[in-house]
Amino acid sequence: MKWMADELGLLAGDSLERTLIDSTPAQGSPGYMVRGDRALLNLSSNDYLGLSGHPAIAEAMRDALTAHGAGAGASRLVTGNRPIYGQLEGALADWQSSEAALVFANGYMANVGVIGALVGRGDAVFSDRLNHASIVDGIALSRAEHARYRHNDMEHLRHLLNKHRDARRKLIVTDAVFSMDGDRAMLGELVQLKREHGAMLMVDEAHSGGVYGPNGEGLCHSLGLHDEVDVHMGTFSKSFGLYGAYVTGSKIVIRWLVNKARPFIYSTALPPAIIAGIAEALRLVRQESRRREWLAEASRLFRAALREAGFQAGAGDSPIVPVLVGGNDAALRFSSALEAEEILGVAIRPPTVPEGTARIRFSLSASHAEAELLDAVRRIARAGRMAGVLKP
Ligand code: PMP
Repeated sequence: MKWMADELGLLAGDSLERTLIDSTPAQGSPGYMVRGDRALLNLSSNDYLGLSGHPAIAEAMRDALTAHGAGAGASRLVTGNRPIYGQLEGALADWQSSEAALVFANGYMANVGVIGALVGRGDAVFSDRLNHASIVDGIALSRAEHARYRHNDMEHLRHLLNKHRDARRKLIVTDAVFSMDGDRAMLGELVQLKREHGAMLMVDEAHSGGVYGPNGEGLCHSLGLHDEVDVHMGTFSKSFGLYGAYVTGSKIVIRWLVNKARPFIYSTALPPAIIAGIAEALRLVRQESRRREWLAEASRLFRAALREAGFQAGAGDSPIVPVLVGGNDAALRFSSALEAEEILGVAIRPPTVPEGTARIRFSLSASHAEAELLDAVRRIARAGRMAGVLKP
């Protein structure tokens, strides 16, 4: 396949080729990852509450494996619907104070499935330019008109809503916390615009579920806006430390998704052991507010220390802290210098982020201690100077 080799060569020339690197959680050291023969402070995962290594989740999964076997054997609409799915969905609806819930295989499939079920040809989807790729792909597959508004630019959104006022159905969709920038959507304003224009509102709480709200319900809850959101989506792959995704909403929305969301209908149910692990993780997410509180405090102090060291650290207050460097090559150099300082800080490059905004996306976990983070910032500053992205 010469054309592939040629195109990959071009990517590599622009510092844009991706390769897989083995990473293993360091035994007995939560928040560290082994790469090669070294344990690195892991500032690049989405294990926000530090639950991925929690023994109670692993135990629930082991028990379920014994009781239910390995695979579900079919999609849920065929023979894969074990009672524990419905039980988990009941607990999820209770947690979100919503009428109903539906579990999906992962967040990517949830977004693709929900958007494809809500809109089609003749409809319009209004989507923040920085929304996650799974939302972008969901819109493309739905065949609805994709009206992309500039990041958090409500005037631009209003303009597009007016422009597409004759669309059959309208859907506004947004990340609650943006995955590569760590800042928040303007949810209050989005609710207002959705009302004014008779649109549906879908919020992706992938990076805010577990992190915000008194019981980790997410950003919409913490702002008291959850009743205004028509479809609420989140994943179990981040704060829950596991895998899978949820959608919550009214009974009619969930009934519609069971009938229309193709990734739900045409794909095998998640293995029962994953469902049992998620149920335990949900119990922990609801209960362990200490982890949530520490994570919020850690995010504050890490950002403040980075700024003190001379970096810009993004606009948000979430555990996602981007340090923009611009060029792809500079981002890779910075990442290598971080590794030399025993810090795992992965370079994020286009097309994951817009051209010219390559960055290190630091993400924190409740497993990290204050002293570790402050020491890390000293090493990050040293690495930044080594890589030429921070003035000496
Ligand atoms: N939405 C957002 C905002 C995400 O960041 C991600 C994961 N990177 C997803 C959806 C997809 O979730 P999952 O990893 O469960 O497929």
